Amino acid sequence: MNWRTIFGLNVLPDFARGVHPPEHKSRTRDLPIETLTEPEVVTIPLLQHAGAAAECVAQPRQQVTAGELVGRRSASGISANVHASIAGVVQAVTAVPLPNGRRSLAVPIRRLAPGEDSNAVAPVADRLFGGVWAESDIAVARPLDILHAVADAGIVGMGGAAFPTDLKLRTTPERPIETLLVNGCECEPFLTADDRLMREYPAAVVTGARLAQKACGARQIVLAVENNKPEAAAALLAASGQFAGFRITVVSTKYPMGGERQLIPAVFRREVPTSGLPLDLGIAVINVATAAAIAGAVLRGQAMTHRIVTVTGGGVRSPKNLLVPIGTSFQTVIEGCGGVVTDARRVLAGGPMMGFTVTDLTAPVTKGTGGITVLSAAEIDSAEQTACIRCGRCLDTCPLGLAPTRIAHAVKFGDLALAQQNHLAACCECGCCAYECPARIPLVQYIRAGKVELAQSASE
Ligand code: SF4
Ligand code: SF4
Repeated sequence: MNWRTIFGLNVLPDFARGVHPPEHKSRTRDLPIETLTEPEVVTIPLLQHAGAAAECVAQPRQQVTAGELVGRRSASGISANVHASIAGVVQAVTAVPLPNGRRSLAVPIRRLAPGEDSNAVAPVADRLFGGVWAESDIAVARPLDILHAVADAGIVGMGGAAFPTDLKLRTTPERPIETLLVNGCECEPFLTADDRLMREYPAAVVTGARLAQKACGARQIVLAVENNKPEAAAALLAASGQFAGFRITVVSTKYPMGGERQLIPAVFRREVPTSGLPLDLGIAVINVATAAAIAGAVLRGQAMTHRIVTVTGGGVRSPKNLLVPIGTSFQTVIEGCGGVVTDARRVLAGGPMMGFTVTDLTAPVTKGTGGITVLSAAEIDSAEQTACIRCGRCLDTCPLGLAPTRIAHAVKFGDLALAQQNHLAACCECGCCAYECPARIPLVQYIRAGKVELAQSASE
């Protein structure tokens, strides 16, 4: 195959800087999505989105059905609903560790005995993504109704940031949305959940994108896929070919192409200002998994109860792309993949570039958990950290043009003001700087710590 063109589409050039880490996607890229056996217990965090935690509306000993509301979005600004992902009995609210290291109150639900769950009438994946999406249903969906359905279903960005999607799609006369950019890049090494979704359920992705377009009033949809996913691009082309104003774009494979500040220049040759948003350019960006969830919410009344998680790495026995009820513990998901091998060393929520090390495997899968990577001893970089040699590679590689070493140094020595002057808050935590650093300085750890300190000082 000629990688400069795919199916007659030119592969767009990439953005400035960035890196090309080994992909490590071959373990799971050709494995069809499986569904995890329903766990005995799920623990639904009330905070698994950007903004404020949802307010618990479930009582201990209350019996709930799958998809029933257990947390209502906070009235105090940005927030999202959360729902029971299995039918069962609510237990006392508890605190849980989150995959990103934070903590949240959560609603545990213990499964009803098998056979009592009258909701389980169809395989979950088919119910959420499969079958036919009727044109007549799409045609009659009205923008405000779509936004309400998306909000009711608790849909948030599934690419990582977990920003409430209905808020992202709301447009105003002052800031109209011209273009809906659907992100199918999945540039993080090891992860293949979005790739499988696009290949197996392209109609759900296309339908959700069209509904999102209606909701926000965009003139056109551009769906971007990296050129290491030719099967996904082919499936999406076939599913969207008949719709005017719907374009599939193939972009070069480069990390972090999936970041909106990298994807927009690659696709449109326009830069998002450092202190601005894609909306300032009339662009709204959603992930392909978010698009599929929108289709399920609007046309089938499905709340956001499940997500596809890639479970991978040399430390897990049977890597899989697994459809998982939200709130399932990491431990249970890993056991669903045969458990770990003897030289498994580290568990990451996500992939190795942007992932968080998870030390407590009771942490539940949240709406933003796209992958669980279990690294083996051989996959861990065991080189010792040394002093900065001022080589400048971190500066040369940062896709946002920041000075990572200056930010990290300022955080290390407690000078938050200096870190802010160097645009601490703008860092997207892509990890390119740490990946390139020959001294193995954990630059992103310093930057994350600085952001936590900043948030704490702002709330005091
Ligand atoms: S400073 Fe932030 S944005 Fe720049 S390379 Fe490092 S992690 Fe990525
Ligand atoms: S890449 Fe590492 S060693 Fe080089 S300047 Fe940056 S922090 Fe220092």
